[in-house]
Amino acid sequence: MELVQISEHVYRLTYETVVGIPIKINTWYVVDGGGVYLIDTGMEDYADTQLNAAKFLGAPKSILLTHGHLDHIDGAKYLKNNLNIPIYAHEAEIPFINGEKPYPNKAEKEITGVKHQVEGLSDNIIKTLPLDVYLTPGHTPGHVIYHHKSDNVLLTGDLFFSNAESLHPPIRKFTVSMGENINSGRIIDEIKPSIISSSHGEDVKYNNDLYSVYKFIYE
Ligand SMILES: [Zn+2]
Repeated sequence: MELVQISEHVYRLTYETVVGIPIKINTWYVVDGGGVYLIDTGMEDYADTQLNAAKFLGAPKSILLTHGHLDHIDGAKYLKNNLNIPIYAHEAEIPFINGEKPYPNKAEKEITGVKHQVEGLSDNIIKTLPLDVYLTPGHTPGHVIYHHKSDNVLLTGDLFFSNAESLHPPIRKFTVSMGENINSGRIIDEIKPSIISSSHGEDVKYNNDLYSVYKFIYE
């Protein structure tokens, strides 16, 4: 477990757990004045740690999800019950979070613990955030990434797996359309963030070749 400040306003919590395979899960806290936004939640088994990290940094304002997979949403029920704050995700992700239908690549519907408690990321909500939101479909239909404008930090969820030098695709069997996911990754060449921080792996510094190398290898 590790809480690291990656830029002036953005903190990353890294937790090692087993979700089928041993995996590191990153979640983030974005500080804005006295408030703090929680980006993804990780698993419920360390939701109390997430809650303490958020409160340590400020007054929790809302939970912003990249998508509805368990390793991103499992802590949401505990955090909502204890903090009484709204949870947001992209509109296109909400039917899957609600268990109304399974993800297109899965037979089973999701059980997230927060069905009908997650609201759509409307323009009115987004304009109150210190973050820009970009729809990056492919891993899931409503997957989004969050860009902290003044710090130029990009929180990319499962758009990529990353190590300190390069980008890799997310796990294929959990990805609805790998082709669409790889195309969505092109957004980094528009944003040109200083830092790309993904849910699984290490933070990467952006460079002009990062996406083209990734696309060349994996498309
Ligand atoms: Zn995922």
